[in-house]
Amino acid sequence: MSERTPLDIVIAGGGTAGWTAAATLARFLGNYATITLVESDAIGTVGVGEATIPQIHNLIVGLGLDQAEFLRATNATFKLGIGFNDWLRPGHSYFHSFGQVGRGVGLIPFRQLWLRARGLGQAGDYGDYSLNVAAARLGRFAISEDGATDLAYAYHFDATLFAQMLRRYSEDRGVRRVEGLIESVERDADTGDIRALKLDGDRRVAGTLFIDCTGFRSLLLGDALGVSFIDWRRYLPCNTALAVPSENPSALRPFTQSTARPAGWQWRIPLQHRTGNGHVFCSEFMSVDEASALLLANVEGTPLADPRPVRFVSGHREQFWSHNCVALGLAAGFMEPLRIDQHPPRPIRDRTLAQRGGR
Ligand SMILES: Cc1cc2nc3c(=O)[nH]c(=O)nc-3n(C[C@H](O)[C@H](O)[C@H](O)COP(=O)(O)OP(=O)(O)OC[C@H]3O[C@@H](n4cnc5c(N)ncnc54)[C@H](O)[C@@H]3O)c2cc1C
Repeated sequence: MSERTPLDIVIAGGGTAGWTAAATLARFLGNYATITLVESDAIGTVGVGEATIPQIHNLIVGLGLDQAEFLRATNATFKLGIGFNDWLRPGHSYFHSFGQVGRGVGLIPFRQLWLRARGLGQAGDYGDYSLNVAAARLGRFAISEDGATDLAYAYHFDATLFAQMLRRYSEDRGVRRVEGLIESVERDADTGDIRALKLDGDRRVAGTLFIDCTGFRSLLLGDALGVSFIDWRRYLPCNTALAVPSENPSALRPFTQSTARPAGWQWRIPLQHRTGNGHVFCSEFMSVDEASALLLANVEGTPLADPRPVRFVSGHREQFWSHNCVALGLAAGFMEPLRIDQHPPRPIRDRTLAQRGGR
């Protein structure tokens, strides 16, 4: 490997995807690659994406990050699972815990034992057999100084601070950051491979491998290489999120909360310095004003800003790797997994027709 020409890797975009790619490549490729990341402060990042699952530890451990420093740098909190409210019916709740629930006997998994005991009227709620659920109900978490714990956990973190932390990590390991607006993409006339990004001010950033992390724009894989977008709207109709931060309630709860709403659902993500709230919905069934009012009526602490809309289309690029370009994050795809197929509210256009005396 030492005799090969080093790779010139160019990452387009500096959101969570771009800086995660930069940090990981800098950590594992070291001197075998030069890494340049291009991002534009004028465009900014999507700014959402604060709840994680336990696989995030692969990244934290893989990068060799100190957990306490990571928690401080990103205002992170611990997450034991997700509380789902009102999904089955109003008033119903279910806690999806990370980690093991109960213990099987021999080859019989715990869920089979539980189902049998439940049928005989001898078992309690499924969550009664989960350490994570017990801790979440009490608002507790425990970890020793060396990081040991019996609880399976992930984090909530501030996505902007997370990207900033990964930027410091990457730049310390030699990643070059270029601030600028990507205006066009230069391709090789014979192979069609990408040769360079052309930036404002007649600047050019050349490379051999390109990573498209430009978010929903998908400037390289989608626009320049023409890889088509597979639209999943007919399966997953939600298309708008409203995000608003709020002051923390007195006690932080160690879990994400997901509450069903008439045309979507609402998230609540507790961080050390604020709570992240959002309402994901389908704009064919609810107007932005209605969705915003519903969100604000259900935010626990005082809102710290006006709700900010993020519009999206569920779907993905047909391929994630084409020519010498790999897409990561939103440039590759985004799925908002809520289907509205049971007792859906009436679409706005029907309501408008009804008001006009239509059907
Ligand atoms: C409503 C919603 C909720 C989500 N919730 C979660 C969650 O709870 N947990 C989770 O893990 N993920 C979540 N995600 C996904 C998460 O936000 C993304 O996967 C993650 O933030 C990665 O975003 P990104 O880096 O791909 O894109 P972005 O953050 O949009 O970054 C794009 C980058 O490209 C740059 N760029 C774009 N165009 C140009 C140009 N012309 N020139 C130069 N630079 C350019 C921008 O400046 C920016 O740096 C959510 C997403 C949405 C939409």
